[in-house]
Amino acid sequence: MASKKKIEYHSYIEDNIRYMSCMICGRYESVGELATGVKCSNCTMKLMMREFPMEDKSYKSTGRPVGWHWMKEFVDIDGKVFHKGKEQPKLKGTLKPTVVKKPKKTKRRTKEQMLVARHKEKKAELRKAVKKQKDFINHKINKG
Ligand SMILES: [Zn+2]
Repeated sequence: MASKKKIEYHSYIEDNIRYMSCMICGRYESVGELATGVKCSNCTMKLMMREFPMEDKSYKSTGRPVGWHWMKEFVDIDGKVFHKGKEQPKLKGTLKPTVVKKPKKTKRRTKEQMLVARHKEKKAELRKAVKKQKDFINHKINKG
């Protein structure tokens, strides 16, 4: 009875560790001696993500600002009125929706930009120091 030949993925041994080519992306991954086919950690992760997407379906944006339920009064876009997060059905539609101020987006500075800014700061400091010294000298001269 001829045994079915297993597909062997390309492998090599280095420092007594067997490496085998990932069956998906071809990256070499250390494997046990008996392994006949491997998926690298990258591909395993990708497959997992495909099977178990990390989508949280329970999360739905309400468009309400952070901490709206702590506000003394918050009026939703549809006119619902909340007092500290408690709905006040009687007041529904009697007030204007609370305008949600979008937080200012702070531009993230790159490392280079930060260095440049720091350099400028230092230059300005130096200029100030020089001016102080000059003033001091001038003062002295004027006085003397
Ligand atoms: Zn892979």
